[in-house]
Parts: sequence; C-alpha cells; structure tokens
Amino acid sequence: MKAKIAVLAGDGVGREVVPEAVKVLKAVAERHGHAFDFVSADVGGQAIDKIGVPLPQETLTLAKQSDAVLLGAVGGPKWEGLDYSLRPERALLGLREALGLYANLRPAKLYMALADASTLKKEVIEGIDILVVRELIGGIYFGKPKGIEKIGGVERGVNTEVYTTDEIKRIAKVAFEAARKRRRKVTSVDKANVLESSELWRRVVTELQKGYPDVELNHMYVDNCAMQLVRNPKQFDVLLCNNMFGDILSDEAAMLTGSIGMLPSASIGAQVGLYEPIHGSAPDIAGKGVANPIATIASAAMLLSYSFQLEKEGAAIETAIVRTLDLGYRTKDIHSAGTRLVGTGEMTDAIIRNLG
Ligand code: NAD
Repeated sequence: MKAKIAVLAGDGVGREVVPEAVKVLKAVAERHGHAFDFVSADVGGQAIDKIGVPLPQETLTLAKQSDAVLLGAVGGPKWEGLDYSLRPERALLGLREALGLYANLRPAKLYMALADASTLKKEVIEGIDILVVRELIGGIYFGKPKGIEKIGGVERGVNTEVYTTDEIKRIAKVAFEAARKRRRKVTSVDKANVLESSELWRRVVTELQKGYPDVELNHMYVDNCAMQLVRNPKQFDVLLCNNMFGDILSDEAAMLTGSIGMLPSASIGAQVGLYEPIHGSAPDIAGKGVANPIATIASAAMLLSYSFQLEKEGAAIETAIVRTLDLGYRTKDIHSAGTRLVGTGEMTDAIIRNLG
C-alpha cells in the first residue's frame, strides 16, 4: 500500500526516538512491499524557536493531509516560563482537537523478559494486559470557563470539568468495542460520589452497556482504582477514563510494566490517527543516545494496525520487540544485571534484525 506519514519529532528525546521508529517502518515497508512517504514538520518548542508558535499552520495542514501522524514528544525547561497559550504542550491539545482525536488507547502489557524491571513483585504483575481508553478532547483540559483572574486583589485559578452525553457515549463505545476483542471486561473510572460530571458519566456508561450484554461492566472510584492498580492489576482488562483520570492512571499503569520508555499510544477519532509514546521529552537524558526507542517503535506498530489495517506488519514489529528483549538487549531504563546494555540506535538495529 501507499501512504503518507507526517513525522513530528518535537523536542528532547522525541528527536532521538522518532527517527528510530521511522527506520523500523522503512524496514517493514521494504520487507512487505509498501511505499510510505515520510514528511517531517516542526512542532512544540522547536517550532516556537523557529516560527514563534508551538503548532504552525503548515504542520497542522500536513497532519490533516496525511494518512497518519507519528509524534515524539514536546516540551522542556527552556519553554516553561512561557504563557500557557504559547507552551509546547499546546501543540498536543491543538492537534488532538483539530484532528478530532477523542479516544486515546494506551496498552500496558508486561513483557515477560522485563518482569524484574518493575518496582512491583513479579507475582503481582505477571500476565498483566490492560488497555486504558482515555477520553482526549473533553473534560477539565478543555472546559470553560478557564483561566486565572484577579478579583479584589486575590488571584483565582479556574478550570471546568464538563462532559456531554454524546461525548461520554462515543468514548464508552470505543471501550466496549475494544473489550469485545479482548477479555470482555470494562472498568469505568469516575468520582461519582463527589462530581456531577461523573454522575452523568456513570449513568450514560451504564445505559450504553445494555447494547453490549456480552461485556461485563464495573464502576470504580478513581482513588480506589489508583490503589487497585498497584494492589491487584490483573483484575483489569479495559479501563475507561475521562481525560484527567486517564492521564494520571495510564502513567501509573505504565510503571507497572517497568518503564515509561516502553509504552505506546494511539489517538483515534476521525480520519487521521496520531501515534506517540506516552513519555515526554525526558530532558534529563536527552542528547545522550540512551533513550529507550521501544515506546515509539511500538507506537509505529499501532499505526500500522489501526490506521492502515496492516495487522500482520504491526504484529511483526511487536514480535521483533519481544525477541530482542528475550535476547537480553536493554536500554539503561530497563537494564538489570546479566543483560546487555545498549543505546537507542543499537536497540533499534537489533529490533530490525529480529523483524524476520
Ligand atoms: P518524561 O516522560 O519526559 O520523563 C519522566 C522520566 O522518564 C524521566 O526520568 C525520563 O528520563 C524517563 N523517560 C522518559 N522517556 C524515556 C525513554 N524513552 N527512555 C528512557 N527513559 C525515559 O516526563 P517529565 O519529566 O514529567 O516531562 C518532561 C517534559 O516533557 C515536560 O516539558 C513535559 O511537559 C513534557 N511532556 C510531554 C509529553 C508529550 O509530548 N506527549 C508527555 C509528558 C510530558
């Protein structure tokens, strides 16, 4: 197949791991006879430095005209003093909104070779396979009113958590459909004991479940869920979350699997899907060639499966990652005694060799 992929490396380690994922995609294209056209553009802090805004019009147009977007990460200390409206992270919100990406899928699956890299006991995490389905363009990150105002000499910061019935329905549908391809269990996360928006969330999800009698539905308060994720993560199959709860819980789920450098994500909704590692720009390790490229390479695998329906090719990348880990290759974040410490590029080369 022929496809155009927008490549937005962004800042920090994004600039190191995205080219590695592109290398893997090129290797897959060559082996399976596909023609992928990779077009790069500026985003985040890098775009601010060059053009003055985090999401230039040219980048947005490229993203809209592509078949899929591969993103690295944005942000870093250099831009932290800027006004919120100009910060690198605004680019993410802008892309999600403009592309209508209302569903963020974050799988947290334990690679058995890495069971020892987790801070949790092996018996607690062995066999975990969770899919966090996070609502991405609603809730408190977008709700209005928002801002900081001064009333009578006192400053007041305001954000608004708001969800409509339709917004809840469309994300819950994604969770129920995903559960049907997995272990048929959805845990819907809310704070319905305190928040009205959660009360509506719970009611709408419960109603929608009637159309999915083959899928089991549980509701769980977010504080309990945070606790259960470290106590007994194996109980979860699909976790359905609003924007903020999903943001926080997916990082927690990530840590169960050993390193944030391992976890991919897919954001879908309308025509163009966006694929990115769940980690940020990691300024503490950027430029050292030690970043783990696996989260981004696994995001590229999701891109092939979800946007191009190239499931076989996506699975080939995942198998190559497992093989490489089984052979003992480890970047610094997942390294343990007796395994082979490699840098970003060496890890990618090993994965490409294991593509079969
Ligand atoms: P982070 O994910 O960048 O880093 C957290 C920790 O994980 C760090 O110790 C880092 O070294 C490590 N880490 C991250 N990716 C790694 C990789 N591939 N391999 C090995 N180790 C890795 O989160 P942070 O430090 O809170 O944020 C840094 C910057 O990134 C901030 O400016 C933040 O706003 C931004 N950020 C961007 C995104 C995104 O672009 N989607 C997401 C989160 C944070």
